[in-house]
Amino acid sequence: MINLITQTQDLNHLSEDFNTMGFVPTMGNLHQGHLSLLKQSIMDNQKSIISIFINPTQFNERDDFEKYPKTLEQDLERIKSITPEDYPLYVFAPQKVGELYPEGENLIKAPGPTTILEGSVRPGHFDGMATIVKKLFEVIPAKRAYFGKKDYQQLAIVQLLVMKYKLSPEIIPMPIIRESDGLAMSSRNSFLNSEERKEALTLYSGLLRIQKLIQGGNSFTSVQSTIKELLQDKRFHYISLANPKTLQPIDRFLPKMVILGNLQLGSTKLIDNLEVEF
Ligand code: AMP
Repeated sequence: MINLITQTQDLNHLSEDFNTMGFVPTMGNLHQGHLSLLKQSIMDNQKSIISIFINPTQFNERDDFEKYPKTLEQDLERIKSITPEDYPLYVFAPQKVGELYPEGENLIKAPGPTTILEGSVRPGHFDGMATIVKKLFEVIPAKRAYFGKKDYQQLAIVQLLVMKYKLSPEIIPMPIIRESDGLAMSSRNSFLNSEERKEALTLYSGLLRIQKLIQGGNSFTSVQSTIKELLQDKRFHYISLANPKTLQPIDRFLPKMVILGNLQLGSTKLIDNLEVEF
């Protein structure tokens, strides 16, 4: 049973469902990565809500915002295809930015590692992201909220945001869903032409190479020099071996680490990451 909600005020009647509701925030153009979050929410909760809102304030290039795929009809079909007939599923898809952004309102300052990695590639991105996530958590009553590790830094910042503002949902991190060749699924993959699609694997294979070196017992110095070598390819905005909690670069191996990368192909920026245990 799919219920489409386009106005914030129509969420009010859900407030008593707080304890039974799982929430999946998205910007739409849904793929199997998004759907894996929704499937988990359906497993864990008696009701679920998925939001589809392309948040202008988290784009730092106007052009990127304007060309972001808007595919509501197709998204609703995809949601329907994985939702049991009698399951209460709500889709919150505001049609006007003003539904969530009253005129003249300022962004909040996102907590945590907001200026490194994606923060340096997309200045201001995390303040826009944190502002919309906080708003959504305030208007959508939910016990759990599902976020993909695909956006590893976003997930870390959302966890800090929830603590800072004492927001209610428990944050559930979900694994990255990949295409059969390993490319992490992303709405932005549709921007790649066939040549770029082939080149896109440079990102995942670079991260895998580092992961294998670590798992194969190589020294920290040799891992660092491989990262340097990979960074000779100027299409990489960064490759970082980092502490998974703080996302700061590390200067020695830790029991748990994360390798994060951003590769630019044409006008498209792709991100990916791999967790690695020492
Ligand atoms: P987006 O629509 O890109 O803002 O993503 C909405 C949510 O889906 C975020 O929590 C993302 O991390 C998650 N997500 C996007 N792509 C994937 C993927 N390939 N695997 C798992 N989760 C994903």
